[in-house]
Amino acid sequence: MTDEERLAKNIRIREKSKETKQKRKSQVCRVYRVKIDISHLNTEQRIRLKMLFVEAKRLYNDILTFMNDHDINDYDSKTSTVQGLDKDHQPVTHVLQYISSQMKQSVIQGLKDSMKAIAALREHNHKTGNLRYKSDYVSINLKQHRITYRFYDEYHIGIQGFKERIRIKGANQFWNIPGIELANAKLLNLPDGYYLSVTTYCNKGGEKRKYKPEIGIDMGIKTTITTSEGKKYKVLIEESERIKKCQRLIARRKKGSSNAQARPFRGRYKARKLLQRAYQKLTSRKKDTANKIVHELLEHEHVYMQDENLRGWHKGLFGRTVQHSVLGQVKAKLKHNERVTVLSSREPTTKYCPECGKLKKDITLADRIYECECGYREDRDIHAARNMILLSKRNTCGTQEINAFGENVRLWQNTAEQSRRIRKPPNPQGEVVHAKIFPVQS
Ligand SMILES: [Zn+2]
Repeated sequence: MTDEERLAKNIRIREKSKETKQKRKSQVCRVYRVKIDISHLNTEQRIRLKMLFVEAKRLYNDILTFMNDHDINDYDSKTSTVQGLDKDHQPVTHVLQYISSQMKQSVIQGLKDSMKAIAALREHNHKTGNLRYKSDYVSINLKQHRITYRFYDEYHIGIQGFKERIRIKGANQFWNIPGIELANAKLLNLPDGYYLSVTTYCNKGGEKRKYKPEIGIDMGIKTTITTSEGKKYKVLIEESERIKKCQRLIARRKKGSSNAQARPFRGRYKARKLLQRAYQKLTSRKKDTANKIVHELLEHEHVYMQDENLRGWHKGLFGRTVQHSVLGQVKAKLKHNERVTVLSSREPTTKYCPECGKLKKDITLADRIYECECGYREDRDIHAARNMILLSKRNTCGTQEINAFGENVRLWQNTAEQSRRIRKPPNPQGEVVHAKIFPVQS
């Protein structure tokens, strides 16, 4: 290729990426994960798949060594041999024979990206560690559809370097969406198998959906999310017995023990793999539960929730319970939706009486029923959830402030966008704006 041709090609690539960027603005990005069916792979393919990750790891570690006294940009990305250590810590030379050049580049790019991220953190005075050698490489970026990977049909994909098709499961998640475009994909080596995580783009849907009426939700410390309609979701997912069993087994195995000993869990390495798999199962179950709850809640036209301090709970009394619950995930997913209003955690959603407007100050965590002097009586959680709608309504009208007697009430945080903005440190002039506070009429 002459210089002129090369320049012309660069310009073409730049134009094309500009065009794509423009197009993406009107599209929705979604990531789907499909599983590689290893029962349909032949021996050669299995070895190849395994070795892709081994070679990526070797390459990564080699670059790290190189970076001790060189710049990463000087690393020869076309190299076919890397230096490493064998199990007795003697230097060896490995030949790279499975990994393709685009994959090599993506390993290098990934390293550069992490260095950038670390540099950015340091600039903002965060404590950072250094990049470390990896014992497992778990994610290889396949940059281009139809080049590094391709979908032949709903059940078969090809990956660069593989002569035959690979059978997959789960493409039905996106296969029939009209006008869908596939962008990059990631080949994942997770404890319970190999996956392909595909980034897709499709046009934003124009038609209006029919929503259920708006809803308030109260997040309970212990186990539940309660809606203003009285529905309760269980959000606690217990650690499985298997995890505990695996942990005990690892503790008993000696370091570096081989597979020959003590079936069925065999050596420590194998036992650790089994534990990883058990944990991944737990993570998947949590994710699934969170997705289902969020989906159901967002069938409502608008969701009102409070910005509860989950991290505070985690540190405090309820640590273990919060750790096993999906409350945090649900909250994080909802927060970024435009149909969700987040109230400040200072709002007296539990104390406020919707009938007479009084604040009941002496309510404790043990009181499961809210009772007011005026005769109003309701389940504590449902009561709080209903108040979320009520209190945010009063504010958005802008005419009436609530009777927050003696409380330090902040201004409302109406949308997720605002709640992010408010969390920034106060302005240097030190002017903090408070809502107007009226005394209670009695
Ligand atoms: Zn009352």
